[in-house]
Amino acid sequence: MTKRKGDVTARQIEQFLSGNSALPLGMDLFGTIVKALPYEVSRTKTLEFLTKHTYSLRSGDPAPPYIARLIVELKLAGATSLRVPRCPECQKEVPLLYAKSDTYLCRPCYSEQITDVCARCNRTQRVATRRDGVVLCGSCSHALRREI
Ligand SMILES: [Zn+2]
Ligand SMILES: [Zn+2]
Repeated sequence: MTKRKGDVTARQIEQFLSGNSALPLGMDLFGTIVKALPYEVSRTKTLEFLTKHTYSLRSGDPAPPYIARLIVELKLAGATSLRVPRCPECQKEVPLLYAKSDTYLCRPCYSEQITDVCARCNRTQRVATRRDGVVLCGSCSHALRREI
């Protein structure tokens, strides 16, 4: 049997998770990891995240989508006490696609946080700066910089 690239990382995740009392005995941990994380890049990121956030599988704390996928697959495989990450703003169990200063947000909550009414053009835009509490959109902050 030839070893595929990425299997090493999947084995490392397996090793990291084995011994976790939330996982049912005799489950196909390796198979579940491979199914949840088909790509090498998400396996590498998962391993990094799990190493940093040891309790992320049961805390329900905000975590990136690859962690959520792993948790969902582990739950399907019988690890029912694990908790899917929730958005810290709306508390929903939805994919948290956006990283923002140490946490992860769902799309609606993220866009709500990054848009605001621009102080110069009065349009609701993506915020480019909030310098001195003044909200400016990208084109206005660009225009102002040229005026100065
Ligand atoms: Zn949300
Ligand atoms: Zn503007």
